[in-house]
Amino acid sequence: LSTLSRWHWGVHERYPSRAAREAMADQLGAILGLTGLEAREPLEPRLPQRRVEVDLPWASTEDRERMLHARGKAFPDQLAGFEGDFSTAPDAVLTPSSEEELERSLAWASERKVAVVPFGGGTSVVGGVTCKGAHHEGVISLDLAGLSGVREVDPVSLSARIGAGTKGPELERALAREGLTLRHFPQSFEHSTLGGWIATRAGGHFATGPTHIDDLVESTRMITPTGTWASRRLPASGAGPSPDRLVLGSEGSLGVITEAWMRVRPRPRYRSKCSLRFARFSDGVQAVRGVVQSGLLPSNLRLLDGREARLHQVGFDGASVLLLGFESAHHPQQALLELALGIARERGGEADQAVHSDSGQRARDSKGDSWRQAFFDGPYLQSALLSLGAVVDTFETATTWDRFAALHEDVIASVRAALGRPCFVSCRFTHAYPDGPAPYYTFIAPGPHGAQLSRWMAAKEAASEALMRHGATITHHHAVGRMHEPWYRRQRPEPFARALAAMKRELDPAGILNPGVLLPEGQPGAGPRRPPGSPR
Ligand SMILES: Cc1cc2nc3c(=O)[nH]c(=O)nc-3n(C[C@H](O)[C@H](O)[C@H](O)COP(=O)(O)OP(=O)(O)OC[C@H]3O[C@@H](n4cnc5c(N)ncnc54)[C@H](O)[C@@H]3O)c2cc1C
Repeated sequence: LSTLSRWHWGVHERYPSRAAREAMADQLGAILGLTGLEAREPLEPRLPQRRVEVDLPWASTEDRERMLHARGKAFPDQLAGFEGDFSTAPDAVLTPSSEEELERSLAWASERKVAVVPFGGGTSVVGGVTCKGAHHEGVISLDLAGLSGVREVDPVSLSARIGAGTKGPELERALAREGLTLRHFPQSFEHSTLGGWIATRAGGHFATGPTHIDDLVESTRMITPTGTWASRRLPASGAGPSPDRLVLGSEGSLGVITEAWMRVRPRPRYRSKCSLRFARFSDGVQAVRGVVQSGLLPSNLRLLDGREARLHQVGFDGASVLLLGFESAHHPQQALLELALGIARERGGEADQAVHSDSGQRARDSKGDSWRQAFFDGPYLQSALLSLGAVVDTFETATTWDRFAALHEDVIASVRAALGRPCFVSCRFTHAYPDGPAPYYTFIAPGPHGAQLSRWMAAKEAASEALMRHGATITHHHAVGRMHEPWYRRQRPEPFARALAAMKRELDPAGILNPGVLLPEGQPGAGPRRPPGSPR
C-alpha cells in the first residue's frame, strides 16, 4: 500500500520519470499529431478539516489514508489529485476485519447520519468512491481490505468462496494453487477487488460468452443497515427475481458485499490464436459479427481500428487488427480457430501465422503480446499524459449490430467536434455478442494546463449525448457511479427507478450508503429523491 500513488494510477515505481514523459511528449507529437505538451509535477495536497470524530478502533484518520480514499481513478479524479485538491477526502477510513465490525460501522454511521462509501480497490472511473455527503454530518470511506482471501474451494462443483476485498493478483494466486482460475481480468485487475467487480458488474477477460462478472457469480453475501442479504449457492434458479441480480451493479448504494461464491474453472491448457488485418474497419466489424453469430465462443475477439492499433503498437499502416483466440482446459482449439479464421477471411481479413500451445503456457504471438503489454501499461500512459497537459480518457457502450454504424459515426464526429483540432479518437471492441458489440473509445487532445477539466467535460458530454441519441447504454462495464447518473436516469424505465429508490429506503433507511450513486443524492432518512422532471 505504501507505494500506491495519491493521484495517478497504480504505484510510484511504474510511473514514467520526467525524462521519459518528456520523450513521450515528443513521440506523441509525432505519432498522434499532438503539440504543446509540457511536463509538470503534482501540486502539494490540500485536505479539508475533518467534520466528525470516529471512535471505532478500526478507523484511521491519517492524512495519507484520507487522500488514498478521497476518490477513484477517473480522469477528473486524477487531475484533481495532481492539482492537490483533496476536498473529497473522507473524515476517516474504516477497515473492518469481520462482518461484526462492519455491522457496527454501519450502525454507528446510521445513528450519526454519516455517509458511508464502500471502497474496494478505488479504481472506479465513474465517481463511485468519491467521498461526498453534502447532506450528511460527515463521510467515511469503508475499505474492504480486511475481508479478503480465498476462504473455501469446492473442487467438485468448481466454485470458491472469496472475500470481497480480495484483489485480482491475490485471488488468482490462491486459485492457481488448486489448479483453478476465475479468469476475470479487467484492465484494472492488479488493484481492483472481487467486491468492486460485483458491485459494478465489471467486464473481464472473455470477449464472448461469460463477459461480465455476473456470469461467474454463484451466490452473494451483503450486509445492509437493516439485515444480511445472503443468497443460496445454486447453479441456476427460476425462483422469482434473482437476489444476486439486485446485488450485481448495486455500487455500494444498497449494502456492502462481504463475500461471494464464484464459479471457477481449471486453468486453460490449450490455446490457439491469430491476428488478422483488415484494410477497412467496417470489414472487421462484419467479421466479428460473423464469428459471434456462428455460435463459436472465442475467448478473445478484440477488434482495433487503425488508430487503436497504432496506440497499442500492433499495427502502424492504418489497417484495423482483429485479435482472435480460443482456450480450453480440455481439448485442442486449433479446429475452432480455423473455423473462425474462415469466417473472418471471407470478410476480407488477412491472417498472420496462427500459434498454438498445449502446455498451459501462453502461446506467443507478437501482436497479441504487444497488445497485452500495452493494455496493462495503458493506465500509466494516461496518468503521464495528464501530467503533460493532455486530456485523455476512454468511454464505452453497447448497442445492437443494426445501430452500430450510425452510432459509431456520430460518436466519433461528436467527440472530435467537442475537442477541435488536433485530437485523436480511436475505437476497439472489448466484448461482442450475437446481437451487438461493446465498442470502447479513447480520446486524446492537448489540454492545455488549466483547461483540461473543461475540455474533458465537453468531450464526455458530447460522447454521452451521442450514446443517448442512438439508444445505446451509458455504460457496458464501467458502471454508473455519480458521473453517469444523469444519463442512467434517462435510460432506465421510470417505474424501475421508483422501485430502486423504494428498495434503497427499505435497506438503508438513514440514506447513508454511497449517496448520489445510482440515485440522486437525498436527505439522510428521507431516502433518494424522485429524479427531477420524472412523471409521477
Ligand atoms: C485503468 C483502469 C482500467 C479499468 N478497466 C476495467 C475493465 O477492464 N473492466 C471493467 O469492468 N472496469 C474497468 N475499470 C473500472 C473499475 O476498475 C471497475 O469498476 C472495478 O470493478 C472496480 O473495482 P474496485 O475494487 O476498484 O472498486 P471501487 O472502485 O473501490 O468501487 C467501485 C464501486 O463499487 C462499490 N464497492 C466496492 N466494493 C464494494 C463492496 N464490497 N460492497 C459494496 N459496494 C462496493 C463502491 O462503493 C463503488 O461504488 C477500470 C478502471 C481503471 C482505472
